[in-house]
Amino acid sequence: MYYLCNENFEHKLKKFDIQKIRADFPILKREVNGKPLVYLDNGATTQKPKTVIDAITNYYSDMNSNVHRGVHYLSQISTDAFEVTRRKVQEFINAREDAEVIITKGTTDSINLVAACYGKAFIHAGDEIIISAMEHHSNIVPWQMLCEEKGAVLRVIPMNNYGELDMDAYKSLLSEKTKLVSVTYVSNSLGTINPVKEIIKLAHAKNVPVLLDAAQAVQHIAIDVQDLDVDFLAFSGHKMYAPTGVGVLYGKRELLDSMPPYQGGGDMIKDVTFEKTTYNELPFKFEAGTPNIEAGICLAVAIDYINDLGIENIRAYEDELLDYATSKIKEIAGVKIIGEAAKKSSVLSFVVDGVHPYDIGVILDKLGIAVRTGHHCAQPVMDLFNISGTVRASLAVYNTKEDIDNFIAGLTRALKMLL
Ligand SMILES: *Cc1c(COP(=O)(O)O)cnc(C)c1O
Repeated sequence: MYYLCNENFEHKLKKFDIQKIRADFPILKREVNGKPLVYLDNGATTQKPKTVIDAITNYYSDMNSNVHRGVHYLSQISTDAFEVTRRKVQEFINAREDAEVIITKGTTDSINLVAACYGKAFIHAGDEIIISAMEHHSNIVPWQMLCEEKGAVLRVIPMNNYGELDMDAYKSLLSEKTKLVSVTYVSNSLGTINPVKEIIKLAHAKNVPVLLDAAQAVQHIAIDVQDLDVDFLAFSGHKMYAPTGVGVLYGKRELLDSMPPYQGGGDMIKDVTFEKTTYNELPFKFEAGTPNIEAGICLAVAIDYINDLGIENIRAYEDELLDYATSKIKEIAGVKIIGEAAKKSSVLSFVVDGVHPYDIGVILDKLGIAVRTGHHCAQPVMDLFNISGTVRASLAVYNTKEDIDNFIAGLTRALKMLL
């Protein structure tokens, strides 16, 4: 087992056995442009451990078959494996029951499901939906589309220059017109960890349900949906060491039960006649059609991987790395960190006076260092800071102090060439 003690950073690194963790991720051995890969684009997607990669092959070589349908052996074992994921997710986020876990394609799909179904049932002309100034486009556009369709109004919680939400402004936005609050747990462009428990408490005081976009939280921070008392929670498999094409929507049963289905098709029905169709129970009511079965099954394997390391250990380790990276980058003249919230997770976004983020990204890539540049699907955030984009280094559990040192050296070199 891995164990973190509260002594100095070097000591923690050794205890965490980072080399063993890195050996679990085959891609980390490869070179890019003749240099060892330094992968710091985990906010976009994480790499996959061998257990997950093997589970994909194993699914196709050993159990490929459609789920929830066949009477035959293979269909039963693939269904069982798929349903193991639902229970793993239930335990991982501490949902009351596995029927509250809807398997989707990802965060975007999960949020669109709520916008479509909750929107259809509960949003009317003049109603208000509150989001925040730091949302990913996935948590802006579905609500804009819904508001346009229904004649509802989108309200936005502003933030300060550190990238922290203005909670007083939030309080004054909440009113009897508010029908839903949908905010991110952790900002993908700034790294801010929002005070989600307080956000939920304040909304509930007005009987308003809350959706949390946990796409950047679930792989870094322990989440307990009952303790948070959150109404909906959305996240993606591919940012938590699982394949693309699978994600989760958690919803409280009473809310999910009160919503109409999302898409129509197989699996979501109980009985179909041309006169009338009755819908299936939760969770299947919201899972029309054949899902991405292998990705679904592999999500359980990724959760096992996280659980083996311990999410609290992962968080402590990544926090140390982020602190280290932050202190190192501050030593470089001209660098301005974008997003300096008191509580942050795993994201280091920055700009450099007189240099385009893209040019930094290209030079870092030549050195084998993968970062993201641009607006990070959060254009309104960039507008607020009056910039076109940032360079973003984002961390996962397999990153090392050496990765950070290489990144800082690469950045220093890039700036020498560009300035
Ligand atoms: C990545 C991300 C999304 C979108 O996730 P998809 O996997 O692309 O559907 C939404 N919100 C945040 C905060 C993200 O980081």
